[in-house]
This record gives sequence, structure tokens and C-alpha cells, in this order.
Amino acid sequence: MLAGRLKGIMTTLISLFQSVFVPSRSIGDNIMLAQALCKNYHLHSGQPRYAIKLDIHKAFDSLNWDFIFNALRAMNFPHKFIAWLRVCVTSTMFSVKLNGSLEGYFKGLSGLRQGDSISPFLFVIAMEVLTAFLNKGASDPVFKFHWRMKDIKLHHIIFADDIFLFSYGNLESVSALMQGFNKFSYISGLVVNVDKSQCFYANVCDEVVQQILGEGFSSFIKFNIGPNSVFSFWHDPWANGKSLIHISDSIVSTAESTSMVPISVYLRNGVWDLPSSNHVDIIEVRNIVHSVQITRYDAIYWDGLLTRTIKISDIWNSIRTSNDLMPWADFVWNSFSIPKCSFITWLAILNILLTRDHMLMFGMQVDQVCVLCNIDRESIHHIFSECPYFDLVRKGLHFHFWEDWTNCIQGNFLTSHLKKADEKIASLFFTTAVYYTWKERNFRVHNPGASNPTLTIISTIRRIVKEKLFSSSLFQKWVGLNPALVKI
Ligand SMILES: [Zn+2]
Repeated sequence: MLAGRLKGIMTTLISLFQSVFVPSRSIGDNIMLAQALCKNYHLHSGQPRYAIKLDIHKAFDSLNWDFIFNALRAMNFPHKFIAWLRVCVTSTMFSVKLNGSLEGYFKGLSGLRQGDSISPFLFVIAMEVLTAFLNKGASDPVFKFHWRMKDIKLHHIIFADDIFLFSYGNLESVSALMQGFNKFSYISGLVVNVDKSQCFYANVCDEVVQQILGEGFSSFIKFNIGPNSVFSFWHDPWANGKSLIHISDSIVSTAESTSMVPISVYLRNGVWDLPSSNHVDIIEVRNIVHSVQITRYDAIYWDGLLTRTIKISDIWNSIRTSNDLMPWADFVWNSFSIPKCSFITWLAILNILLTRDHMLMFGMQVDQVCVLCNIDRESIHHIFSECPYFDLVRKGLHFHFWEDWTNCIQGNFLTSHLKKADEKIASLFFTTAVYYTWKERNFRVHNPGASNPTLTIISTIRRIVKEKLFSSSLFQKWVGLNPALVKI
């Protein structure tokens, strides 16, 4: 009953920044918006811009109840309603009745629970308070909007427990938003999940990145270094939170380097390639740098607010489905990956590519039929499980893959167990196939009547895979050990 009453008023209460859990708002609208905003962060053109994705740590579990009651009071909920809610959450056992049916019993634990019908709404209310704090942060005259958001004056989007912050790429703007977030975190008990939070910036000059990361942020920031890293080798604090420039005043000239070189200059095929001098400072550089592992791509992780530890009950852990480790992650992202191919495969696995079933869900008027086969309705499951077009492509891939997409989502791509090296090559074939199939699908959508036969796609995939493999020194090494690989 409480949940039903809340649901009825959500639309009027909750601002446009949030879409999840609110009736008549579609999560898809926000996903498309975030995709559009995160586009082209790898390009160093356009206006300086920042995007930070914060993942709220164990969101439903760590929300502070007093905070929720205060928020409800501030939103003018009746005292009686809040009192009922208090009884619900503080008694050891309660049930929620929604639309006349009993929704089950719930143990009164320390926070909001996933699965009961009222928690999502209360969580949305908490996020509404966050919106207020972020609005306050952004009302600071020094705050400047992300250039795409200037007209609609948007600086954040929330999907359930993921929060995207967007701003112009300068220190003042990022600080204004983060101060709003930090205040919210302090009163609500919600903390940031380090491993899932990311920070993207584009066309921000090194000096400003330095300022943003340096002033109060450096202790919160963890770098991931990709094989073509664009971070500043000497100036960015990517090595254990410190900048290498601080080793000595003359370190850059001792290394016969220049001040602004990117990290990629000292990487060859994903492996460190540092000056071999025996100068004591250079030895220190090598020691520090060699302790840093190369990852798939550049990223900066937000490491803030972790000092506030939240105890999670064992009961909760045992009933909660953990989504920390994705079984497909190693297959989709590995050292041979072509980023754009892994990215599209990743979106396909998450089922957030804009297939026609999704377009219909968003209320768009489209033909539902798959343009690749013209037989069935288009969905991710159809394209990668049932569609005869992809089936033919898959059969031309040199390895045997499961035909059922459900298997892939569970991390089972290959029908037989392969050696690590072969698995990486198979992964490259598969992600490239997903990418070129999706590309063909888009080509047909935008050029009615035009099409490329599967044979063309297969030969493109083979060419791209070969180019990628033969440009890799690791692969050359494998070929040395196993000349049969050349036949791929
Ligand atoms: Zn089809």
C-alpha cells in the first residue's frame, strides 16, 4: 500500500535527471543521452570536457534511514506516512501489499532492500536529494556546463545507482560538482564504488588535468594505463599516485626526454620500453614504472570516500546476486582486442545497442523486422542467436562458437576449451564479427535496399583480424613457437 501511494506521486516529485523506477520514464532515454555525451572522448578536439561516472557502492545497502526520513519530511510527506514507514523498516519482519497482493515478508535490515516494492522509490528519493546538492554545486558562478549541455542546463544523469557528472573541462567546474556530491555522500551514507567509477576527459590541457588531479583529487584517483596511453609520462600522477617529475629537478633531461611526452612513448607493443641508463634517478624511474601494469585502455578511477566503511550483513550478502565479476569480461577485453569491436560486443552483451525491439520500447515508430535476414523481429538475441546472416558469419570464423547468445552472456563463447593463446585469437575473431555484423545492420538501416553478402563480411573480418595479429609482437612470438598459427 505504501509503495502504491508513492508510485502515484513519483512523476510529479522526481526531476527529469532520473529515469529508473519512475513510471512513464524510460531508462532508454537516459542511456541514449549518456552514450551521446560520452562519444568521442578519445578525440582531442572540441571544447574541453569532463565526464565522471560514479557508481554508488552497494547502493541499496548503505543508505542511511534517518536521511531518508528527513528527506521525506523535507518533501512534505505526511507525518503519518513517515511513521508507518519507520515501523516497517525498524520491525524485524514486515510485508508489503501492492495492488491487493501480498508481496512477501522482509527482514528489517539496516538499509533499503532490493526486491521489496518500496525500496526503489525511496532510493529514487535519495537520488533526488543528490540532484539538489549537485544543482547547488553547479549554481556556483564558477561552474561551466559541458558544451553539449549548455542549452538544456544538464550536469548529471542518474540511472539507478550509476551517476554521470558532466562539465566543462576545468578545475572549478569539476570541483563544484564533486563538492555537491561529497556533501551528499556525507549525509546519506552512500559511498562511491571505486572499481566501477570512471573519469573521462577530452581536450583538457595537461596543466589543467594536473590541477584537477592534483588539488585535493590526487589521493582519490587511480590510473589505468593503456598500451597507447596519452597521459603525461612526467606530469600525471599515474605511478602510485605520484608524478615522476618529482624524482629530481633534472629528471627529464637526465632521461634525455622532453617534458610533455605521453606515456605511450615508453611503451612498445604493450610492454615498458624505458631508457637503459644506469643513472640512479633513471633506475628509480624504471623501478617505479615496472611496478605499473598495462591495462586494456586509459582510465582514471575515482577512489574517494572509501574511508567510510559500511558493514554489510552476511545475510544480505548471501541473498544478493553479485555483479562485480562479469564472466565474459576476459573474453571481450584482452590484449588483442580492437577497442571499437570490444566496445560494440560489450554493448551487445549488456543489451543496450539500439535494436528495433528497443526502439519500439522507446516509442519510436519502426519496422520490427531484422534487416539482415528479413525474417524475424530484430533483437540482440535474434541477431546473435537466430539470425541466419550472423550464423553464416559465425561459421566462417575459424573457431567454433556457441549459437546461443544466452551462453555468450554467461561467458561461454567457445564450444570447446582452448589454450589461452587460441582463446585470445578466437575472441578477436568473435568481437570483430559482432562489430562488422552490427555495422552491416546499420548500413542496411540507413541505405534501404543496399546490402553486403556474408562472404564480404567474413573476408573483411579475416583481413582485420590478420592485420591486428601480425602487428602484434606477442603474436609474432607465438608464431615462432607454433608456426601453424600463420595459417589463420
Ligand atoms: Zn535476422
